[in-house]
Amino acid sequence: MANPLHVGVYPGTFDPITFGHLDIIQRATRLVDRLIIAVATNVKKVPLFVLEDRVQLIEAELKTLPLPKEVEIIVKSFDSLLINFVKQEGARVIIRGLRAVSDFEYEFQMAGTNRKLNSELETVFLVASENYQFIASNLVKEIARLQGDLSPFVSNNVAKALNKRFTEHL
Ligand code: ADP
Repeated sequence: MANPLHVGVYPGTFDPITFGHLDIIQRATRLVDRLIIAVATNVKKVPLFVLEDRVQLIEAELKTLPLPKEVEIIVKSFDSLLINFVKQEGARVIIRGLRAVSDFEYEFQMAGTNRKLNSELETVFLVASENYQFIASNLVKEIARLQGDLSPFVSNNVAKALNKRFTEHL
């Protein structure tokens, strides 16, 4: 029998996608045969970008990244409980990024809770390259709102979308 596919789910809000997320995606492609980038619809805070825009921005980024051809990368939205989505996709691995100690408590709690709900799932934490470790969508949005330089944090395409969003709001 052929080896089963290793499927991983990388869930997040991606509001919007940053160089930090992209670094984690690239690293994750070394671990799985199929990577599902799962964009959460059901988030506690109201995102700046609607779901369709967040998905579109991710898809545009994926076209510009040097990614291994043998790994299938799919962007999907989900609004169910994460572990149900993961199971439905035939995945065994949840991929999350860790930035600093500040992420740890929440991520630790989530990984533990998900394991209680489904003991067959593993959460794998990846660390971005040191250039991108500190990037967070929330800070990027704040910089955009105050019209700062976005180039160290997001692509031109995402920067354009952010600038457009904030000029619309003026
Ligand atoms: P969520 O609302 O689920 O935290 P995010 O889009 O903020 O969604 O983040 C998705 C995942 O990507 C999280 O695991 C987060 O820690 C990780 N991540 C985001 N930015 C970075 C970064 N700069 N370095 C490493 N991991 C990151």
